[in-house]
Amino acid sequence: MKLIVATNNAHKLEEFGRILAPLGVEVHSQKEYCPDLDVEETGTTFAENARLKAEAVYKATGLTAVADDSGLCVDALKGAPGVYSARYAGENTTDAQRIEKLLKEMEDVPDEKRTGRFISAICCIGPDILIECEGICEGVIGRECRGEGGFGYDPVFYVEGRSYSEMTGEEKDAVSHRGLALRLFYEEMNRRMNCAEQ
Ligand code: IMP
Repeated sequence: MKLIVATNNAHKLEEFGRILAPLGVEVHSQKEYCPDLDVEETGTTFAENARLKAEAVYKATGLTAVADDSGLCVDALKGAPGVYSARYAGENTTDAQRIEKLLKEMEDVPDEKRTGRFISAICCIGPDILIECEGICEGVIGRECRGEGGFGYDPVFYVEGRSYSEMTGEEKDAVSHRGLALRLFYEEMNRRMNCAEQ
């Protein structure tokens, strides 16, 4: 099975490949097929934005496309940054600036109230297929960056005492929002393909 990943985010693409390729899925980047496509994320939910991205790439290529829309929802910030995770510190800002803003906003939040979760909504659209699913990973927002790997808010999102950045890619995939969502997606895709064959 060949899928076009509807993202321009190299880190997300790497995670898609790492999770789906061992399952036998051929993962291609949006850049290979429609390099100039830039989808505006106008939805108010992760699911809406994932659908907008998958739909746009499917329409542009005619090939089955899969998108992730994801973000960090922090309880003490009433769910922020949420769907605005990528733009939390404004347009054209860096991961470091977004983390700095998050840590500043949470300066006075006590340890027991620093809970939050990463959510990933996956949408796959193709000629005969529409699959939507979601993965959630519960954790806490640390007071400092820890670890070297990953991207985005990885250094400040801790799961059972370790930040996403302190984990190897495979360790992150085993517990992460995207890992959970993509494994659900893969199971559902297989179930439908088996039904279609019978
Ligand atoms: P979008 O899904 O392209 O709207 O962007 C999601 C944003 O959420 C990213 O730019 C990151 O800032 C953040 N994000 C999503 N998934 C992860 C993750 O696995 N680790 C760290 N940050 C993430």
